[in-house]
Amino acid sequence: MLTEMVKSAESIAIGGHVRPDGDCVGSCLGVYLYLKKHFPDKQIHVYLESIPEVFQFLKGSEDILHEIPEDKIYDLFILLDCGDAQRLGFSAPLYENAKTSFCIDHHVSNQAFATKNYIEPEASSTCELVYHLLGSDQISEEIAECLYVGIVHDTGVFRHSCTHPSTMCVAADLMEKGVDFTKIITETFDEKTFAQNQIMGYALVNAIQFLEGRGVASYVDLEKMAEYRVQTKQLDGIVNQLKLTKGADLAVFMYELEKGFYKVSLRSTEAVDVSRLSQIFGGGGHARAAGFSISGTFAEILEKVKAAALEQLGK
Ligand code: 5GP
Ligand code: MN
Repeated sequence: MLTEMVKSAESIAIGGHVRPDGDCVGSCLGVYLYLKKHFPDKQIHVYLESIPEVFQFLKGSEDILHEIPEDKIYDLFILLDCGDAQRLGFSAPLYENAKTSFCIDHHVSNQAFATKNYIEPEASSTCELVYHLLGSDQISEEIAECLYVGIVHDTGVFRHSCTHPSTMCVAADLMEKGVDFTKIITETFDEKTFAQNQIMGYALVNAIQFLEGRGVASYVDLEKMAEYRVQTKQLDGIVNQLKLTKGADLAVFMYELEKGFYKVSLRSTEAVDVSRLSQIFGGGGHARAAGFSISGTFAEILEKVKAAALEQLGK
């Protein structure tokens, strides 16, 4: 499907979601490296917001474009790991103007909005879908590194319920291709800078429990991020740590994007479907990991989340 669309296009843009994570970066660069190698005569560009430093070792990351050219019309726009077109952020106009589009994604909230879609909500990650689309034979060590990063990040190192036996088979094949899995897991997933650890500590110390301990929530505002000198893209891992609180069915972590405007990250057990919950507020994601953005204070937003969670918990 991908190859046919690419063959009939001269110019191709690749884009992923705002505040790109490991799966987004890995899938975009995996597809980019594949297309560059197999279609050297085509114009191929990859557009993403600035990526976390830990992913900058991936081949092709130096080619990522952060601004869109004016009036450019691509023959094909490939969206990766994007549940809806707004999630593209700054590259959305390129998608809207492109002659055709192809979306590869695993978000259950994805409404198959592109010209052609490969959406598999059961898949661990978009990177796993890219692996299947390209086929093992086409995957070089450099592409394998990209895809391994995405699988590791979206499965929380093969732990989350989205990890299937088939995910492990894909990871095994990527290992066979020579990826340095210990280095990738340690340096892109586990390790935090001193400042990141400090702000995580701050968020944990100030966390509160609600719904008799079934919920746990915390937040950082712009002031705290400035004080600890961390950017929003360096807050990964905090919501997962909150979720590890014994007895918690729902973890809520909010960080301020603009004054009075928060990004809300949710993690849950099977007791709460956070994709459904996030969709109430215009967001989306997966059943156990989802998010949305909303105006208000921490307390106001938490009240809304609590009310929506209570509906699902049947109280
Ligand atoms: P995170 O909380 O790590 O930012 O995101 C968890 C999951 O939910 C990711 O798969 C992410 O793509 C999705 N997600 C987070 N925020 C939003 C949002 O505002 N809209 C949509 N559609 N998905 C989101
Ligand atoms: Mn993903």
